[in-house]
Amino acid sequence: MKEFEIAQKIGKELTEGQLQEAAAKALGVKPGMVGHVEIVRRSIDARQDILYRYRVQAYRQGEKFEPYRLAPYQDVHNAPAVIVVGAGPAGMFAALKLLQKGLRPIVLERGKDVERRKVDMARLSTKGVIDPDSNYCYGEGGAGAFSDGKLFTRSSKRGDIREVLHQLVAFGAHEDILIDAHPHIGTDKLPEVVKNIRSCIQEHGGEYHFDARVTDIEKIADGSFRVSAGENVFCAQKVILASGHSARDIYELFQRKGWALEAKGFALGVRVEHPQWQINQIRYHGKYQPFMPTAEYSFVQQVDGRGVFSFCMCPGGILVPSSTEDGTVVLNGMSNAARNSKWANAGVVVQIEPGDQPSTYEGPFALMDFQRDVERSMYRYVQEHGGTHPLMAPAQRMKDFCRGIVSKDLPKTSYHPGALSSPLHELLPENVAGRLRKAFPQVDRSMHGYYTNDALLLGVESRTSSTIRLPRNPETLEHVDVPGLYPCGEGAGYAGGIVSSALDGINCADKCSNF
Ligand SMILES: Cc1cc2nc3c(=O)[nH]c(=O)nc-3n(C[C@H](O)[C@H](O)[C@H](O)COP(=O)(O)OP(=O)(O)OC[C@H]3O[C@@H](n4cnc5c(N)ncnc54)[C@H](O)[C@@H]3O)c2cc1C
Repeated sequence: MKEFEIAQKIGKELTEGQLQEAAAKALGVKPGMVGHVEIVRRSIDARQDILYRYRVQAYRQGEKFEPYRLAPYQDVHNAPAVIVVGAGPAGMFAALKLLQKGLRPIVLERGKDVERRKVDMARLSTKGVIDPDSNYCYGEGGAGAFSDGKLFTRSSKRGDIREVLHQLVAFGAHEDILIDAHPHIGTDKLPEVVKNIRSCIQEHGGEYHFDARVTDIEKIADGSFRVSAGENVFCAQKVILASGHSARDIYELFQRKGWALEAKGFALGVRVEHPQWQINQIRYHGKYQPFMPTAEYSFVQQVDGRGVFSFCMCPGGILVPSSTEDGTVVLNGMSNAARNSKWANAGVVVQIEPGDQPSTYEGPFALMDFQRDVERSMYRYVQEHGGTHPLMAPAQRMKDFCRGIVSKDLPKTSYHPGALSSPLHELLPENVAGRLRKAFPQVDRSMHGYYTNDALLLGVESRTSSTIRLPRNPETLEHVDVPGLYPCGEGAGYAGGIVSSALDGINCADKCSNF
C-alpha cells in the first residue's frame, strides 16, 4: 500500500480516472495493476488557490485490503445488566459497547426522547420556559444532539476515533465524516442518528427509560447498586455515570455521600457572532464562492498567563439559549448540516484554573458556584434593565467592548430571545474581560477583519467543560471511593466534546465488562 496526496480545486469533481492515474504513479505500476483505492482524508487548503487536498491509500492488485469493521452487537435479552445514567454521547456509546461485549445496558435519562425534547426547546427559545429536565443540555442525545455536531477532536490517544465515526455512519450520518479533516453532522441530522442508536440498543435487548432523573445511587451489602430514578429503582452490579457537565445535582449527591470530587478548571467568556460573509472573506482571502464550504475558524492565544481560545465554532449557525436553571443566561451555538445561516458564531473563552475565582468561592464547588453566579448576573442585569424575554442576553459590539463603551445600538443577531445593549466589559469578571480585551485585536493580526464593530459579543459562554472532576482509578476507571461505579464523559471531567465523550463511554464500558 502507498499513501499519496492529490489536490483539486474546490467545486471541481475529482474523477475516478484522475484517482486511478495518480494511484498508478504512486505505486509505480501500470493503471491496470491498481487494486483498491481509498480517500482517507479531505482537507481545505486556502493558502493560494482554494483546494481540496485528498490523502489517498492505493493498493496493488492482489494486495490485501482490510476494510474497517465494527464488532457485532449481541443479543443481550438475558445478559447481566449495567446501568448507564445519561443518554448523551458518552452514555449512548457506552451502551453500544456494552451490546458488543454481551452486556445489557439499562439507560436512565432524566430528559425526554429526542422528538418530544424538540417541543421543549422551541418553548425555551420562544417563551423562555426552562424545563429543568428537558433543554439544550438535557434529554436524549445529551448536549450533543442539538449542536453543530462537530466531530473534530484532538483526543486521539483516548481510543480509536474511527470506531465512533463508523458507528455514526452506520446509524445514519453522512459518509463524508469518515474523511473530512473537520467533520460535522448538523443539528437537522443528529436526532435521526440518536433515534437509530436507541432502536439498535432496544432491539438487542437493552432498555431505555426517559423522564428518569437519577436521584440516588446506593451501594448495597452484596456490592451491587440500587439506583433510584423517580418512583423506580433499578439494580445492577455496575453503573456507568455519564450525566454531563451540567448535572449539578449529581455532584451534590456525591457530596452528600462523602464520595470524592474535586474542583477542575473550565473556561469562561462570550459568544461572538460575526456575519458569516465576513468570516468567508477572511478565511478564503477574498476568494469565497457560494459553492465553497462555509468558512470556520479557530485560534488559541496566551494572554497574561492564561489561554484565550475560540470554542465550538458554528459556521452558518445560530445562537441558542442553553441554560438549565431559571434565573440564568447561558449561550451556545448550533448549525444545520448545510451551515447556511447568515451568521458565524463561536465561544471565545478564557481558561479559568482553580484559584482564579474570587476567594469567597471555596471547596470542590468553588468553580461551579462561581460559574452559576456569573450566569445569574447576566440574567439579573438584563431583567433589571428592561429585558423583554426571560433569556435575553447582555450584548456589546466587539470594539465597544474593548474600548469600554456601551453600544448605542446592536447589529441583528440569530439569538431568538434577543440581545440587550449592556456593559459586558463590567459584567464579566475582570480577569476574563481584561484578557478578552487584549485578545480580540491580537486575533485580527492573523485573521484580518475579525476585530470589527460588526461583531456582537453576547454573555455568557460558561458551559465549556465540567467545573468538577469525579476522580477515578486510572487503570480500572472506577470512582476512587466506589468500586463498580464508572464516572464517564464530560461530567466526570475526563472528556470534552462529542467524540472524546463517546470514546470515554466506550472505554468505561470496556472496563466494566469484566464481570
Ligand atoms: C448547544 C451545544 C452545542 C454543542 N456543539 C458541539 C459540537 O458541535 N461538537 C462537540 O464536540 N461538542 C459540542 N457540544 C458539547 C458536547 O455536546 C458535549 O461535550 C457532549 O455532549 C458531552 O457528552 P456527555 O455524554 O459526556 O454529556 P451530555 O451530552 O451532557 O449528556 C449527559 C446526559 O445525562 C443526562 N442526565 C443528567 N443528569 C441526569 C440524572 N440525574 N439522571 C439521568 N440522566 C441525567 C442529561 O439529560 C444528558 O442527556 C455542544 C454543546 C451544546 C450545549
